[in-house]
Amino acid sequence: MKTLVRCARALCAGVERNDFAMLIADDRFADAGAYAALRAKYPAAAQRTYGRDVVVVPGFVNGHSHAYQILLRGWADDLPFETWRREALYAIVPQLSPDDVYWAFLLAFSEMLAAGITTVTEFFYLNGAGNAHAEAAIGAARDAGIRLILARSWMDVASAPTAFRETIELAASRTRDLMDAHPEVNICVAPHSLHAASHEMIAAAMDFARGRDCLVHIHVAEAEYEGAQTLERYGATPICLLDRLHVLNERLVAIHSIYVTADERRLLAERGARVVHNPLTNQYLGDGICDVTELQRLGVPTALGTDADVKPSILDEMRAASLLQKIARRDGSALGAAAAFDLGTAQGARALGIPAGDLGAGLYADYAVLDVRNVDPWSSLRNAVVYRAESSWVRETYVGGRRVWNGERSAATQRAKARTAALMASLRERRRRES
Ligand SMILES: [Zn+2]
Repeated sequence: MKTLVRCARALCAGVERNDFAMLIADDRFADAGAYAALRAKYPAAAQRTYGRDVVVVPGFVNGHSHAYQILLRGWADDLPFETWRREALYAIVPQLSPDDVYWAFLLAFSEMLAAGITTVTEFFYLNGAGNAHAEAAIGAARDAGIRLILARSWMDVASAPTAFRETIELAASRTRDLMDAHPEVNICVAPHSLHAASHEMIAAAMDFARGRDCLVHIHVAEAEYEGAQTLERYGATPICLLDRLHVLNERLVAIHSIYVTADERRLLAERGARVVHNPLTNQYLGDGICDVTELQRLGVPTALGTDADVKPSILDEMRAASLLQKIARRDGSALGAAAAFDLGTAQGARALGIPAGDLGAGLYADYAVLDVRNVDPWSSLRNAVVYRAESSWVRETYVGGRRVWNGERSAATQRAKARTAALMASLRERRRRES
């Protein structure tokens, strides 16, 4: 069954195309181009038509998320990073059952689809008791309909909660089991960070990734203390240390990369590493500003991530990425709308190693339909999407050619909201009794 999607307006590689079409076969775009030519070429294909009141855009790509952090919303705001992690994040997450993970993730993923996000990379660290929690996350992604990259965390330092900790052997064998059980999911390894995974574990994760041909996600240089710590203990700042461990290469996805030197940025580029930039979470937690302008100049493939998921929206992350560069550089021309749109779509997909992020032949048929009746007729559509769009503009979202958001909350999402609210009420009641 082939479907021709006719778009009065579409954004391809960030450029507006009129009377454009994509042919969907199975879960991919099989062809794309001018509507008239495609209609003539595929006379038997069914047709779906979008008018001038909407724009069809590539589905947004989320390079880094921790869906369980939606549980911290509203009550763990405005804390210093250490307090936030110790008293909120690490107090709540280890208590979650697989069932709790399922409902919270279903809710978070549904919010992402409603914001036009079609791929999410979940950096998932609740693995200390086995794969049941990760299985629940995978089930939630499947039921929500979002494309999942599971960056399965590995942690072995004594200071990490036991619910997160594993030996290298256990982490490897469980990751292998998960990959074998779920060939349909893009599973990567994710040694948590230089402060939560031993050097042996980080090196073992890279070996594992070579064997299974996957990427390696790692948090790096999110806070200033990390560089001071690695410099004192090992005589090298974080990116240099990763290089010394022989893990800085084209498989490495360096999440954050805020406190890096100019030499380290060059090293990232030379080794072919990738970066995920999380501008809203970096502001929310008071982390700092990643010099994404310089990373772009050096050609480091970079994606955007919603990280703490205070409000998971790549529309908002694109805007934040752009505005932060303008203010950091006191230069209104820094990281413009075209570059920001690229980070949230095509370049983001490239950084994560997936065939997505644009409306072109061979890519996953992932797209969103945005209401643009509020866009001024004299405005560039792309610039309006980056600087003005709200999640509420997203009317429909498609993943692999299948509609997964139609503008209305499903019964399952409503149930997920109720279950998650009940979970938080019971966790907070337990906290109150214990304190
Ligand atoms: Zn993170």
